[in-house]
Amino acid sequence: MVKICPMCRSSRVDVWLGRGGGNMYKCLDCNYQGALIVDVDEENLKSINENRK
Ligand SMILES: [Zn+2]
Repeated sequence: MVKICPMCRSSRVDVWLGRGGGNMYKCLDCNYQGALIVDVDEENLKSINENRK
């Protein structure tokens, strides 16, 4: 599974432990920050990227 940004679908996402013990995420491409992230497997990631072209 790969974690991708819900905003720009980049896989360049940083993970850190937020307040209260929940994971927080930051996207290195669009600077999205939050607890919401999208999990996809690598095959789906490929098709997502192909669909963007
Ligand atoms: Zn992003």
